[in-house]
Amino acid sequence: MHDLPYPVTDIHVHIQPWERLHPEARAVMSRGRPDYESLSAMMHDPQAVLARMDEDGIDRIGLINYVAPRLMGFTDTVNEWVADIAKADPRRLLPFGGLDPRDSKVAQDPRGAVDGLVDLGIRALKIHPPHQEFRVNAYRAGAAEEHLPALAGIYRRAQEVGLPLMVHTGTSVFPGARSRYGDPMDCDDIGIDFPQLTMILAHCGRPLWAPGAIFIIRRFPNAFIDLSSIPPQRLLHYIPMLDKLANKCLWGTDWPGPGAPTMDHNLKQFIDLGLSDESRRAILHDNAARLFP
Ligand SMILES: [Zn+2]
Repeated sequence: MHDLPYPVTDIHVHIQPWERLHPEARAVMSRGRPDYESLSAMMHDPQAVLARMDEDGIDRIGLINYVAPRLMGFTDTVNEWVADIAKADPRRLLPFGGLDPRDSKVAQDPRGAVDGLVDLGIRALKIHPPHQEFRVNAYRAGAAEEHLPALAGIYRRAQEVGLPLMVHTGTSVFPGARSRYGDPMDCDDIGIDFPQLTMILAHCGRPLWAPGAIFIIRRFPNAFIDLSSIPPQRLLHYIPMLDKLANKCLWGTDWPGPGAPTMDHNLKQFIDLGLSDESRRAILHDNAARLFP
């Protein structure tokens, strides 16, 4: 375990009801993971999750969930599910939820849908364009194959109530995933149209679009990236100015996704990169403390 003099937040951890995955998606999730069954059981046992966090020296985690019924099998019931898990320790467990702008209830009342998440205790909204099969800026007529005006209502209300938006940027290898929609430049529209909305670009557009994600966080004061799903030894390859951009970066591992055997494993590799103490602290603690007080 690390011996850092401050608590660490891992903002991108997948605590999800895996048994709800479609068989094809489950096959990808369980590939090369002999401990799939025990992890799947742990997802329903917040005390076991907290124990793993203690073991790994992690103070707080973001529990990433989103709604992708067609591709993944996750419906909007994940919101109640994750809010319930987080009740075990609301200080340490930050539930991320999702919305489906094609759902008729959401389309008719996006504002009410966002309020519903907040009422549940959801701390941030996760949109996964490749898995939800739409462009994150599809509220702009003509910007995408499918026009989804409800997205504007969702972003507007999230901005009003201070609910951060996390967007998956980068590719995905799940069956059917529309990786093209992982281009972070689509977030440029959100930065322009909803400047007060806190936006976290997950995975920094890895591996194809890191420069695009970096452009976005430098352009918009309320835009951030999380460092999850990038092998820590490759971080400086993708983000050469990491030290300079530290105040716009959040630590994340994507555990238990591929490439993160434990939360601690990736954290140690990150510490070994030799960033300045100040930058390291901003990424591991300060920025998350500010965005998720
Ligand atoms: Zn993820």
